[in-house]
Amino acid sequence: MVEHHKVNKWEELTPSEFVAAVRERPVAYVPLGLLEWHGEHLPLGTDMLKIYGIVLEVAKRTGGVVLPPTFYGRPGYGSFAGTMVFSEKLVYDLLTELYGQLEKCGFKVIVVLTGHYGPIQVDLVKKTAADYMARSKIKIIAQPEYEGIDPPPADHAGKWETSFGMALYPHLVHMEKFSPGVCPVHRYGDEWVSYPRDEQTDWVWREDLRQTSSAAMGAEMIQRIADRVAGLVSAALAEVEAGV
Ligand SMILES: [Zn+2]
Repeated sequence: MVEHHKVNKWEELTPSEFVAAVRERPVAYVPLGLLEWHGEHLPLGTDMLKIYGIVLEVAKRTGGVVLPPTFYGRPGYGSFAGTMVFSEKLVYDLLTELYGQLEKCGFKVIVVLTGHYGPIQVDLVKKTAADYMARSKIKIIAQPEYEGIDPPPADHAGKWETSFGMALYPHLVHMEKFSPGVCPVHRYGDEWVSYPRDEQTDWVWREDLRQTSSAAMGAEMIQRIADRVAGLVSAALAEVEAGV
């Protein structure tokens, strides 16, 4: 049974509503995405739209305040159509300053969920959290959405991201544009390549995502992920209250 809290979107609150929300549940949600090529069947904002949908589902269970999703992240298929990637320094500084601002506002637990992944992104996000926690009492939960689920529902525009899209924003999923095999990619040039092994040629779909993806599969997995992350948040809040 999901305990339903009102979901507080930061940008929609008045100042007094905001102060009351932080006092009631000092948890901030930071949804991280990327604007990135996700095949012809999924929108460029797949990672940020996916993680925002998941974060809103977690917040229903826990309360807290949800920040708008951001698209500043590390690679990323940097040479593919519609992708933007950013430097390690920029992303490190952005998140570190963000934690400082959230601490100023009175948050005690920060949940950074990244819907864009790969070790370059995930390792950096975890490092920003570890470095900040080394000098603050704040608890930061920093992870990709799939972490802790076995087997991890992680892919790049594959059956999981397609299923999440079907569940969360079906009007943006275009299965009529999908077919197995070669998917031609508009590329910007070798100087923008982030992953040489994957970006030199057109994309190849080895699986028929029309057969393996579904809205029901996406919706069910979102509930599993939300339950798990909500459990982590409750544990972190209990630690904060106990002064651990
Ligand atoms: Zn993705």
